[in-house]
Amino acid sequence: MKFFIKLFSVALLISSYTYTSVEFKQKAALVCGAGGFIGSHLVKQLKDEGYWVRGVDLKYPEFSHSKADEFIIGDLRNPSTVDTVVRYRKNRPFDEVYQLAADMGGMGFISFNDALIMHNSGLINFHVLDACKQHKVGKTFFSSSACAYPERNQLTTENPVCSEDTAYPAAPDTEYGWEKLFSERMYQAYSRDYNMTVRIARFHNIFGPEGTWQGGREKAPAALSRKITCAKTEDTIDVWGDGKQTRSFLYIDECLEGIRKMMNDPRKNLPVLNIGSEELISINDLTYMIANVAGKKININHIDGPEGVRGRNSHNKLIKKTLNWAPSKRLREGMEKTYKWIEEQAKEANYQEQKSK
Ligand code: NAD
Repeated sequence: MKFFIKLFSVALLISSYTYTSVEFKQKAALVCGAGGFIGSHLVKQLKDEGYWVRGVDLKYPEFSHSKADEFIIGDLRNPSTVDTVVRYRKNRPFDEVYQLAADMGGMGFISFNDALIMHNSGLINFHVLDACKQHKVGKTFFSSSACAYPERNQLTTENPVCSEDTAYPAAPDTEYGWEKLFSERMYQAYSRDYNMTVRIARFHNIFGPEGTWQGGREKAPAALSRKITCAKTEDTIDVWGDGKQTRSFLYIDECLEGIRKMMNDPRKNLPVLNIGSEELISINDLTYMIANVAGKKININHIDGPEGVRGRNSHNKLIKKTLNWAPSKRLREGMEKTYKWIEEQAKEANYQEQKSK
């Protein structure tokens, strides 16, 4: 009997050692905003790469079940919630924290909610960054935005200038952009003063399946796809402004690739980098591209609406130089996948019966 008890104890010891060492070898990441568009895709990506992942958000992902090992519903404006979620295991901090949580949406949202955005996203960034410092997180990623660039360089449709070094003197056209710029500086200050490893990317219009496609926070590719899927051929849909305003759009897969390349880079410091496409397109041409993907002939009715800057494009010289990589996929490729997904969503929601405006 004694022999069996001894054997059992040894087996238990070996198995707990193996479990602990496997757990310790596995990298651990926290994704703030894991219920959102980019955050939910990032969780999947990190799980595919073998990470242990905790997600936190005010809500679960809307369109698929989260792949996170642990998903906490919590408000990141609350410092005690933040302290709890950023703490991983006793004597073991998170290897990586991805701060993607923000109160945000397309032009229809960020043009009319200045105080809310600055207050909510500001609080989230204050608390998350400070908790990352307290709990000695390995690397912290902050998602900034192309909205941080000054309006003066984006007054024409043809040649907007958004290279990283043109962000100053600062003059973003929205308070959303100002909050991002302030938070960038706060992440950089913590990195300098507390020796933290921080990565900052300025995203340029990320789109793809499982992004918001209705309800007021959706962005141009999703909003236009929804309107077109609801329209019949030869129908007319509304577009804000004269439609000549230009943008570039980056498919989600390449955004994730950029984030992971920044985080995997072994250098202590990296500059702030654009993660965006350089394929500039007007909103009118984007509409016709989606209509073509849908196999419909669509007419445009221009109406008043928030347009944002006249032109905006990513500038990828610095990311190429720094990471030896930049997004390269064509917009059409991503739009085909995104349109197909929105078409399915709309069918499910029986959206066809509603008006396309
Ligand atoms: P998203 O709105 O889909 O995701 C943000 C998530 O943050 C949401 O799920 C929301 O519920 C969550 N959140 C908001 N307030 C919270 C709070 N108080 N506590 C906990 N969670 C909270 O947005 P996204 O497109 O996935 O963007 C992710 C990040 O990238 C954001 O910081 C955004 O500003 C930035 N960004 C995105 C784009 C883009 O084109 N999608 C462009 C530039 C920058």
